[in-house]
Amino acid sequence: MILLNKIETGGEAENYLAELKSRFPSLPVAGVSALTGQLGPIRDFMKAGTTVTFVGSSGVGKSSLINAVLGRQHMHTGEIREDDSKGRHTTTHRELIFTADGAAIIDTPGLRSVGLTEDSQMGEWFSDVENLFSQCKFADCSHNTEPGCAVQNALALGRLDISKWENYLQMQKEIRFEKRKSDKALQSEEKKKWAKIGQTFKKIKKERER
Ligand code: GDP
Ligand code: ZN
Repeated sequence: MILLNKIETGGEAENYLAELKSRFPSLPVAGVSALTGQLGPIRDFMKAGTTVTFVGSSGVGKSSLINAVLGRQHMHTGEIREDDSKGRHTTTHRELIFTADGAAIIDTPGLRSVGLTEDSQMGEWFSDVENLFSQCKFADCSHNTEPGCAVQNALALGRLDISKWENYLQMQKEIRFEKRKSDKALQSEEKKKWAKIGQTFKKIKKERER
């Protein structure tokens, strides 16, 4: 579900909320406030046995929301050092916290993305965008400068919101990023496999030569 925190700040926040609701009609969207304890449907989502995590940019109020849900100031403990993608060491800690109702919260302050994959059904929420693709003149349209591009037409006519299109492009970028990452992991698996086969073969060859 999509939470818009700091809703108690009023005007602009309410506008964003309305925009989110119209942008994602098939998703539960709620305005909440960690400050005033206005938690809307969060607790309904956190029944016993469920596991949730809060994802969002730093400063949006994830820690505050977790504290509000728990009804206490939660103290972080235990740190794990891990490599980030640039090979640097960053310090993050991960934790599993339980609410009084028996729901689990995975608290990962270092979480920067949710790891979108092609099969994560994101397309469902952008079906109006993806429906346009079949209306482009060229089947391999890149939706940039081609004549007869349904996306560019819809943007020009104001039928497709430019920020929605930008969201879609951003989502595709994240999917590609995750794919490259997993491809790299696969490649290194494959390398390891062949390295091992090579080593074993060398050994066998040596033994035969004896
Ligand atoms: P995190 O980085 O996502 O964990 O965000 P924090 O929980 O540390 O909150 C970031 C800042 O936003 C802090 O200064 C909070 O006091 C403030 N904040 C969090 N929730 C709310 C809220 O509902 N309303 C307002 N006005 N401020 C909030
Ligand atoms: Zn196109």
